[in-house]
Amino acid sequence: MDCKEFNGLIQDFLNDRLDEMKLSEFLSHIEECEDCRDELRIQYLIYEGLARLEEGATFDVDKDLSDYMQLQRKRLSSREGIKLTAIASEIITTAAFVIVLFVVLFYQ
Ligand SMILES: [Zn+2]
Repeated sequence: MDCKEFNGLIQDFLNDRLDEMKLSEFLSHIEECEDCRDELRIQYLIYEGLARLEEGATFDVDKDLSDYMQLQRKRLSSREGIKLTAIASEIITTAAFVIVLFVVLFYQ
């Protein structure tokens, strides 16, 4: 992902609208690119800061943004975990089927 693509996805990121693949690319780009970290911080400040201001809630951009990033990272790893569990259970089901077939065919 380049910086231009990253910039176009900031709003979707803040609205939690990125799919797994984009989210994963987005999060790894931000690890490497300081410009985009700054850009995200500014957009978060505007987007989230204004909403909080209306609610009269307190707002700490650096803490809140890093909490949000944590949440997104966790969400990503739990999604990957779910996928792995699905694959594992499929393998177990297939293996069980093959064993049953084997038993039926050879032990009659
Ligand atoms: Zn960048």
